[in-house]
Amino acid sequence: MHKLGIMGGTFDPIHYGHLVAAEMARAEFNLNKVLFIPTGIPPHKDRRDISAGELRLEMVESAIQDNPAFTSSAMEIEREGPSYTVETLRLLRKNWPDYELYFITGTDALREIFSWREAEEILTMIQFIGAARPGFDASDFLLKVQKEHPEILGRIHSLEVPALAISSTDIRMRVKRGEPIRYLLPEGVRQLIQQRGLYAE
Ligand code: ATP
Ligand code: MG
Repeated sequence: MHKLGIMGGTFDPIHYGHLVAAEMARAEFNLNKVLFIPTGIPPHKDRRDISAGELRLEMVESAIQDNPAFTSSAMEIEREGPSYTVETLRLLRKNWPDYELYFITGTDALREIFSWREAEEILTMIQFIGAARPGFDASDFLLKVQKEHPEILGRIHSLEVPALAISSTDIRMRVKRGEPIRYLLPEGVRQLIQQRGLYAE
């Protein structure tokens, strides 16, 4: 059985926190590929000023081009209406029939999975890799799973990664304030942000 890692996110913009989590998950869990899927209209985000899907995908493609195990998909940004993970996973299961699916999230996103649409369905379909994210402790969440949903505990895996307190929100604010973002994300992504005038006032 092959293994497919799935890295979903707004990626507005993609940064080294995402890339390190994906790469460490790939190595630790022997994933054959990691698929980066920028979200369409994220159901959980109330930001109205999310960059166009094509721009976020372009930044993702630039960021992952030098890693042969990384690939991207436009499936969510091309879909009409809000993107629900459960629908994405159903499609992925159809398109990657020989692969076991591993959904990679930071601990902030992991703590929210019970609020996802059709959470129970999702939790039985795939494996989860929760990459430690500075400031977001998952131990309460794991205790809750142990108490209330012990049947899925075996499918939730914790992953320690070199802690990077980088967020897209912080990067956007830095650009807005004219502060440096170099070394927080790949240089090609930084240049795209500059060329396209993203996140500036
Ligand atoms: P925003 O500030 O706009 O929410 P973000 O930096 O949180 O952006 P997302 O696109 O929301 O990035 O996150 C996509 C996925 O990557 C989520 O599962 C998130 O938990 C994870 N992630 C983001 N940043 C890090 C990081 N620094 N370390 C580990 N995981 C991360
Ligand atoms: Mg986020």
